[in-house]
Amino acid sequence: MEQQGEVPHVLIFPFPAQGHVNSMLKLAELLSLSGLRITFLNIHRIHQKLTLHSDILSRFSRFPNFQFRTITDGLTPQNRTLGMFSDLIRRLNSITKPLLTQMLLSGELGPNPTCIILDGLFNFIVDVDAQPKIPVFSFRTISACSFWAYSFVPMLIEDGQLPIKGEEDMDRMIDGVTGMENVLRCRDLPSFCRLKDPSDPALQHGVTQTIQSLKAHSLIFNTFEDLEGPILSCLRRRCPNIYAIGPLHSLLKSRLSGEESPLGSESFNNLWEVDRSCLAWLDAQPSKSVIYVSFGSVVVMGDGQFREFWHGLVNSGRRFLWVVRPNLVAGEDGENGIPEELEKGTKERGCMVEWAPQEEVLAHEAIGGFLTHCGWNSTLESIVAGVPMICWPQFADQQTNSRYVSEVWRIGVDMKDVCDRETVSQMVNDVMENKRNELMGSVIETAKLAKTSVEEGGSSFRDLERMISDIRLLYR
Ligand code: UDP
Repeated sequence: MEQQGEVPHVLIFPFPAQGHVNSMLKLAELLSLSGLRITFLNIHRIHQKLTLHSDILSRFSRFPNFQFRTITDGLTPQNRTLGMFSDLIRRLNSITKPLLTQMLLSGELGPNPTCIILDGLFNFIVDVDAQPKIPVFSFRTISACSFWAYSFVPMLIEDGQLPIKGEEDMDRMIDGVTGMENVLRCRDLPSFCRLKDPSDPALQHGVTQTIQSLKAHSLIFNTFEDLEGPILSCLRRRCPNIYAIGPLHSLLKSRLSGEESPLGSESFNNLWEVDRSCLAWLDAQPSKSVIYVSFGSVVVMGDGQFREFWHGLVNSGRRFLWVVRPNLVAGEDGENGIPEELEKGTKERGCMVEWAPQEEVLAHEAIGGFLTHCGWNSTLESIVAGVPMICWPQFADQQTNSRYVSEVWRIGVDMKDVCDRETVSQMVNDVMENKRNELMGSVIETAKLAKTSVEEGGSSFRDLERMISDIRLLYR
């Protein structure tokens, strides 16, 4: 390992959300394992949650060249939840830009960074006038296919394919997105495309962000060639320097298994307290008998939707493990009390927790399917574990991901834009039994491809090596 002061210094700055912090911490650990100096800059309140619910500090203390630093988001609890997610992104961009610039200019983050790995939701450093000039690697935590679809939105507005003209227009096929011919319907476009007004700030912001990322020194995707190769090839024509280094959790696991005293790679970066009791519950269930249900860290549903899922799960007659975050359901109870059949069915066949050790859950022998919102981390984790999916996408990239899961990769079914108990119970039974054989062939094959990509000589393994050597070259 190089001596302190003689190594490139990489500043990593994730957006303050579970899926973003998750994958960027894994990248930070991989880069630390290769001997680079790393500063991981976290929003203060996220860092507090991380240190409260995980062993993150002791885990990274084994790297002498690693440091955590924090920065304020300047937001009150009220304006953190005000408006749409895109409003929050804009507020965070405007608050953190001057703060980070100041930190860089004053040298308080240590030696001048060789490069910054900046979450793609922060786009300010790639501004033409941004100072100081440090190469920015834009890390996109979304799939390459959804990023590619984002980049076509201006063209779709220009030629009149957007805005979407209401519900009856949702199944219209989209033309002209290279590499996605006959795949995308209106309802599969990233969620901001559902906005009626093309000048809506949320839509404009989604577009600007994508364009900014394409101007970065490099683009990093948590994906792998055998999954998204054709789209990555299209993207390379717009931004030649792309590193596809996913699935990151699997790449880290593979690297750690070569360590002298390997640490586990799962569940070290949670922002919520993990309830491990569900693993003991799973131990007591038959093989492939349980449907795991989780909608990630951000999705919020109405009480009516929550109850449709609940009825659907109970009516399916299957066992289920459901992550019900304290803030998953918004608004008032639509019904009074819990109907007896739900209580009874849940007691007999269900388990509910507030936050699960998801990677371990998906790898558990008892899991037979995953009802998911199709967040990109969850999708990759399901792929690696070889678990077929039922997709209920809600926003951003999830709509495009779910289309790829069901129609392109054929590793799941898509219940997009529907939420009734009959569909839930039907799809659970499809994935667990009726359509299982037709799904499992591609599920097993895709899991194998993911594994090969992170092993020595695999495409993601090589792309990470290439990225590290490019960072070293920048330093010389
Ligand atoms: N996750 C977890 N326990 C849970 C639910 C989610 O550890 O009970 C993790 C999951 O493994 C994934 C992340 O939270 O890594 C969610 O990221 P994703 O991109 O799937 O969705 P988001 O939360 O960003 O919508």
